[in-house]
Amino acid sequence: MEWGFDNTFARDLPWLGVRVDPVPVADPTLLALNEPLALDLGLDPQALRAPDGVAVLAGNQIAPGSEPIAQAYAGHQFGQLSPFLGDGRAHLLGEVVDEHGHRRDIALKGSGRTPFSRGGDGRAVVGPVLREYLVGEFMHAVGIPTTRALAAVGTGEAVLRERPLPGAVLTRVASSHLRVGSLVLVATRGGREHLEAVVEYVRARHYPSLPERDPMALLSAIVQRQAELVASWMSVGFIHGVMNSDNMTLSGETIDYGPCAFLDAYAPETHFSSIDHTGRYRYSAQPAMAQWNLTRLAETLLPLAVGEDGASTDAVVADAQARVEAFAPAYERAWLDRFRAKLGLIGEREDDRALAEDLLEIAKGGGLDLPGLFRDLAARLRGEETPVLDRLAGDQTLTDWSGRWSARVGDPQAAAQRMDRVNPLYIPRNHLVEEALAAAHAGELTPFADLLERLRSPFAPVPGGERYAEPADPGFTSGYVTF
Ligand code: AMP
Ligand code: MG
Ligand code: MG
Repeated sequence: MEWGFDNTFARDLPWLGVRVDPVPVADPTLLALNEPLALDLGLDPQALRAPDGVAVLAGNQIAPGSEPIAQAYAGHQFGQLSPFLGDGRAHLLGEVVDEHGHRRDIALKGSGRTPFSRGGDGRAVVGPVLREYLVGEFMHAVGIPTTRALAAVGTGEAVLRERPLPGAVLTRVASSHLRVGSLVLVATRGGREHLEAVVEYVRARHYPSLPERDPMALLSAIVQRQAELVASWMSVGFIHGVMNSDNMTLSGETIDYGPCAFLDAYAPETHFSSIDHTGRYRYSAQPAMAQWNLTRLAETLLPLAVGEDGASTDAVVADAQARVEAFAPAYERAWLDRFRAKLGLIGEREDDRALAEDLLEIAKGGGLDLPGLFRDLAARLRGEETPVLDRLAGDQTLTDWSGRWSARVGDPQAAAQRMDRVNPLYIPRNHLVEEALAAAHAGELTPFADLLERLRSPFAPVPGGERYAEPADPGFTSGYVTF
């Protein structure tokens, strides 16, 4: 089949990766193929399903024009610099220009050992691969920039974790795989010409309207995109779980769905990841952690700005610092935009922020289910049932808040319609995801396929969809741990 691969990364930044082929697997079987995404990429779904297509998606065959590469990068893992990371179980196959003219990376994950594998086996397990697939498709459906799964292929091999588990390879599509950690590596180990080359590559590929040779303008643009990204995460209760600087893209897409999870009962200090002992990456800390990573990004760019137009080091540092600190107001602005929409508000009024924050305070006190709450608010405007709000029936604070909101929201029918278009009814609830992954491990893919279908159309109720909209038992959530 025709992939139309191009390899600008390999051509322009050859020293930022190692040319290495995926390691073939025993018995590839297609678990899932993302047909809409395939079409978007100009790829033929029939050909992808055929044995030759699956062989490429498994890493057993190299497609014409592909030059597989393991990318090198550094990263701050839980605040500590790891100077040498890189793709330890991933291979960039090449780039494809999609139907909209956007260049996108096609990469395999779980495709075998590379020079960056250290002690790892280079492999991935069916469960996490399908989690990444599900959550990525949900993020895309609600308009949150994200890497996406093109396919998941079972390997027919066991992967040894705490016990043997079925292996899989994910095909990941990203607007690129360059991350904050890519620049950290180049800034610490490369020469100025390497740093300039990556910065220009990022500008041309992701921020083409920016001027060349203006690293501080690029910094500001990345800060803005990350502010909007994290605000979007917060609006759907997404907890990334491992916001290390190697897991933050320069394009502004969400990447690396390892230990991610979603809030149900609103509790902003929540974290689920088994390795996040201190809660560094808890829900409420995500904006601050993004800004921390952006500070590391700014440090990499400083040498390029010093000396330009005779700028002194002090002036450059102060400028970079101001640009990173602009994250906070940009985030606050983006957050308020999203929560205004969630509340059905049109226009801007001074007390809108207080209205949104006061509601979340009520939700926190009552342990209200976050997605259910916003659907219920719309239901209340229509005079329909409101099981989540009813938990606080007769609560004076909620009654007072409802009065303020009703006065602000305007025509109830129109507002309810607006709200249901931005507040997802179906989200990848942790218990539903776990249920689908456990079934997949037992060889049953129907729960995964059913959940995927809900998550791809997350706003409109479907007959029989009730169980997908309900929160987990509180016992499930309090004991939930991600890996
Ligand atoms: P993550 O925290 O998932 O972004 O992973 C951190 C680093 O560990 C990356 O460089 C990964 O490529 C590497 N890694 C994770 N799992 C494996 C594995 N099973 N084999 C080899 N490398 C791995
Ligand atoms: Mg990663
Ligand atoms: Mg990971």
